[in-house]
Amino acid sequence: MSLLAVLQPGGSAATALYIVAFSMFIIGIKRGTHPSSAKQGNMIAAGGMLVAVATTLLLNGIGNWGLIGLGIAVGAAIGAIASFRVQMTAMPQMVALYNGVGGGAVALIAWSELRHGISVGGAIPLETLIPTLFAAVVGSVSFWGSNIAFGKLQEVIPTKPLKVPGQQAINALLLIGILVACVDIALNNSGPSQGIFIAILVAAALLGNLVVLPIGGADMPVVISLLNACTGLSAAAAGFALDNVALIVAGTLVGSSGTILTMEMATAMNRSVANVLFAGFGGAPAAGAARGEERPVTSIGAQDAAIKLAYADSVVIVPGYGLAVAQAQHAVKEMANELEKRGIEVNYAIHPVAGRMPGHMNVLLAEADVPYEQLKEMEEINPEMPRIGVAVVIGANDVTNPAAKNDPNSPIAGMPIIEVSEAQQVIVIKRSLSPGFAGIDNDLFYEPNTSMLFGDAKKAASEIAAEIQNL
Ligand code: NAP
Repeated sequence: MSLLAVLQPGGSAATALYIVAFSMFIIGIKRGTHPSSAKQGNMIAAGGMLVAVATTLLLNGIGNWGLIGLGIAVGAAIGAIASFRVQMTAMPQMVALYNGVGGGAVALIAWSELRHGISVGGAIPLETLIPTLFAAVVGSVSFWGSNIAFGKLQEVIPTKPLKVPGQQAINALLLIGILVACVDIALNNSGPSQGIFIAILVAAALLGNLVVLPIGGADMPVVISLLNACTGLSAAAAGFALDNVALIVAGTLVGSSGTILTMEMATAMNRSVANVLFAGFGGAPAAGAARGEERPVTSIGAQDAAIKLAYADSVVIVPGYGLAVAQAQHAVKEMANELEKRGIEVNYAIHPVAGRMPGHMNVLLAEADVPYEQLKEMEEINPEMPRIGVAVVIGANDVTNPAAKNDPNSPIAGMPIIEVSEAQQVIVIKRSLSPGFAGIDNDLFYEPNTSMLFGDAKKAASEIAAEIQNL
């Protein structure tokens, strides 16, 4: 028995501590549902993880403290450096990487469980073997798929969909092969072969790569969320194999929340998850792509924009991905402050998939101390639009595109949008007439009540703020 081992696996003290841990996970998730309590929620969930890890380390039978310490030190150092260095716009790939590591860890745990079972000799009980195989396959798919997602978002590999001829057939064959090999291990369980198990891991690795490679880089957030759900499920399966209740609960929470998030994102884009996975959309410009420069637009400067804004009763700011790229949140808040000083009502319209990850805009605006009550969800702000003096679209594009409503053949047909055209006037701040993520032209730019202010979002917002001050 190791010096620190004070808890018996399955004993009441260990179980009580695990219950504390996953209660903290649940409270953390609950608190994460509102920006004002999200940070605290994150700390509570992290505290829960600390309790779970500490409890597990204190279980009788855990050894090799040197290796465990080394793992903790390396992991903590990488995590700390990454969290300080990574930009908000790079958050989706960071999540992909962390998720992949989780899946990979689960696959390795499954492997070590199988080796342990083999070394003990005799048949591995099916209630251990089945979750072990599930954890190995799903964890491995998740690891490799997440790595490809990271590579695409980081542009280490081409972001456009990469298709291999006969891809679906190859994927189906790989899946069938994996299932047959798993059944074979289960049936010849008196002394399962590690060779077949390694072949399963390799096939799952290929499958993970081939499933994600054909998906366009910009669809990656949905895929990452799906892979995240897979990692959760594989961790839950590993929990069954190891008879560890904390892992079962944590894995199930990740699996279910990841699934809900995936569905929500797909719904907000009016696409099915199958469409995201198999349609190869989201990389190259889609059909009906930008042909913008041919039509005339009204172009204005910061001074004109300041005048329009300063004489409106109410202004709605519609942020999008370009605001994140430009890191314009503070400049936008400064502009809003100037308007509020003049007694103008300012609100922010938040589309559920504005930016590149769920909650992207909320996080950015919270960073600039925008009051939460000024953040209006799409369903809340749309009916208000006709009474809004000026809607200022800052670095957003697809989420305001009327084609979603008007053109049934548009790739974004049916996607709910922020209906800025309903406002009395619209100012769109972006650098050019280039399309956004969906690669399609935006009729909003050419409407009679729309004025385009071409430029970087941060620079434009600062200039407008200065001009309002001078009025
Ligand atoms: P968007 O349609 O991708 O458009 C962003 C616009 O920002 C671009 O047209 C670009 O135009 C402009 N921009 C880039 N850098 C800028 C800068 N420095 N200053 C000013 N403007 C800048 O973005 P969105 O309206 O936020 O829509 C999000 C899209 O991502 C949707 O199609 C959504 O379906 C998709 N998506 C979102 C999620 C999610 O979870 N949020 C997940 C998956 C997919 P210029 O180049 O002309 O400046």
